[in-house]
Amino acid sequence: MAGFKCQRCAGCCYGRGGIWLNRAGRRQAAGHLGMTVGEFTDSCLTWESGLWSVGVGAAGRCLLLSGSRCLIQPVKPLMCRVWPFFDGPLHDEATFREARAACPGLALLDWADFKRSAPLKKPPRSFRIFLLGQRG
Ligand code: SF4
Ligand code: SF4
Repeated sequence: MAGFKCQRCAGCCYGRGGIWLNRAGRRQAAGHLGMTVGEFTDSCLTWESGLWSVGVGAAGRCLLLSGSRCLIQPVKPLMCRVWPFFDGPLHDEATFREARAACPGLALLDWADFKRSAPLKKPPRSFRIFLLGQRG
């Protein structure tokens, strides 16, 4: 059984935003970039529905993407670290198929293989609820 293998296409770094960062995440990302939290917040984040999220540029490109490389790779947000092992694709085949259409790594797996290759540690049920609990 083959496990999930990221093809490093950076496709999942394009979208409508929603890459949320809590206080610890902002501090880590700023430190990694050699910025103060204020500088990082002003230049890279947007305030969205009561939470800080990474800004997006043209075509929904994450502002922290350089070429196909994440500028904060070692400290990237939780949801970027856990993708694609979210509850949706793990528990609903239609959601898995939608994600599969957008992710060349998932396209190499069927749903059963994907579920079998999921890490044993369960991801948070909802990142939004998880982050709201750590707002600040
Ligand atoms: S879209 Fe899939 S294959 Fe491409 S970088 Fe993201 S996780 Fe990896
Ligand atoms: S923070 Fe990094 S991994 Fe997450 S979407 Fe932006 S560039 Fe991609």
